Amino acid sequence: MTDVTTLTDSLPAGTVVTDPDILAAYRQDRAQDPDAGTPLALVRPTTTAQVQSAVRWCAEAGVPIVTRGAGTSLSGGATAVDGALMITTEKMRGLAVDTSTRTAVCKPGMLNAEVKAAAAEHGLWYPPDPSSFEICTIGGNAATNAGGLCCVKYGVTVDYVLGLEVVLADGRAIRLGGKQLKDSAGLSLTRLFVGSEGLLGIITEVTVRLLPPQAPACTVVAVFPTVADASRAVVAVTSQTRPAMLEFMDNTSINAVEDMLAMDLDRTAGAMLIAQSDAPGPAGAAEVALIEQAFRAHHAQEVFTTDDPVEGEAFAMARRVAIPAVERRGSLLLEDVGVPLPELPALVQGVAEIAEKNDVTIAVIAHAGDGNTHPLIVFDPEDTDEARRAQLAFDQIMGLAVSMGGTITGEHGVGRLKKGWLRAQLGDDALELTTTIKQALDPQGMLNPGVML
Ligand SMILES: Cc1cc2nc3c(=O)[nH]c(=O)nc-3n(C[C@H](O)[C@H](O)[C@H](O)COP(=O)(O)OP(=O)(O)OC[C@H]3O[C@@H](n4cnc5c(N)ncnc54)[C@H](O)[C@@H]3O)c2cc1C
Repeated sequence: MTDVTTLTDSLPAGTVVTDPDILAAYRQDRAQDPDAGTPLALVRPTTTAQVQSAVRWCAEAGVPIVTRGAGTSLSGGATAVDGALMITTEKMRGLAVDTSTRTAVCKPGMLNAEVKAAAAEHGLWYPPDPSSFEICTIGGNAATNAGGLCCVKYGVTVDYVLGLEVVLADGRAIRLGGKQLKDSAGLSLTRLFVGSEGLLGIITEVTVRLLPPQAPACTVVAVFPTVADASRAVVAVTSQTRPAMLEFMDNTSINAVEDMLAMDLDRTAGAMLIAQSDAPGPAGAAEVALIEQAFRAHHAQEVFTTDDPVEGEAFAMARRVAIPAVERRGSLLLEDVGVPLPELPALVQGVAEIAEKNDVTIAVIAHAGDGNTHPLIVFDPEDTDEARRAQLAFDQIMGLAVSMGGTITGEHGVGRLKKGWLRAQLGDDALELTTTIKQALDPQGMLNPGVML
């Protein structure tokens, strides 16, 4: 085993951890890969210079690196590799809001919720809102190009990242972009690093754009007899307007959430849609009327509209907890497939057929307004045949999305779990280009080996 003494000696006391009990807690991320490896050591740097020291040590010793934010990855991107150095950004903390440029400069270990709260203290808003916003880091969000509930109207993480500091595989730290709102100088390297899943460098600072606060939203909730009705209603809405939220839950996920929260959701509904409009004044009233009408035209059995922010948040919360709620029913293979919006009804129908064909339970939740679905395949890992059928269904759903011109991952990233499908989506040439970029930036293949490629 590689000796980490020189690394330990080069960093402040306690930065390098080799205690097996602590290492064990960092082996898996939320994808809970049973084949996760055991890291050589864990490094908890507080500064960019310490990240550089660790990376340079790895380059010299030939030790691979796995970068970790909060470990909420659902695609296995932060899963440990045997013998790798795990670098967590959790102690890289600090944030400065600049009201004159309406930006925030964030250290990567700040939680998304902390960035939102700091912006709000200055009367500003950081929109991207993954359901995990209270437990995931801004560095992880940048590395995965995270989406969320309001992203249908306000865009995803890449739309807010103006600048980055990144430690490269050779230990150099580079600064890209900054507080300027526009920048056409050179290739758009900032955007290249957003969504790069730790393959190209370690993000040590993120500068994000902030917006004025979101106007109070009106929430429209409806239940439908079937998932087909609900998904057609989504397309009817999105072909006419861009609401501030348009989320989908099927019967299985409604029941899982009801078991967890007991909030009186309709357990008999085939599906539920939760929409929000934050358009001000008459435009807002018109958007709400349009949403209600589209829901009713697609057989909504009940349509409930509220201006009460507490009630609205309760429904958004119901949708946010859907993954942990369904997780209580068994192990999950978690999909993140997305399709162009007109294909959404066919995708949802296709997922139901795949569930039936493979005799597995698949709960479907979705950031439906942007065509991004999360079919959650529930299985018992002790039941080898069911686990095999779940894996078949997992592959078939990605194949279906690709056949519809869609994506194998709308927001969670390829990670380890979906890389077998990347070629099918990108094609040979785009995959080769991706590999070329990776090799140019990380010729030793040190950064997050086994992720994406
Ligand atoms: C209940 C639940 C709900 C979720 N809902 C959403 C959702 O609505 N939308 C969404 O997009 N995601 C969602 N996620 C997935 C996850 O929270 C996001 O992918 C998030 O961006 C990961 O952040 P993290 O800090 O946990 O990163 P990690 O899980 O630690 O890492 C994720 C990936 O980024 C890399 N990485 C992390 N930090 C850095 C860094 N500083 N530099 C370089 N690479 C880095 C890692 O190597 C890994 O490949 C959800 C997860 C859970 C558990």
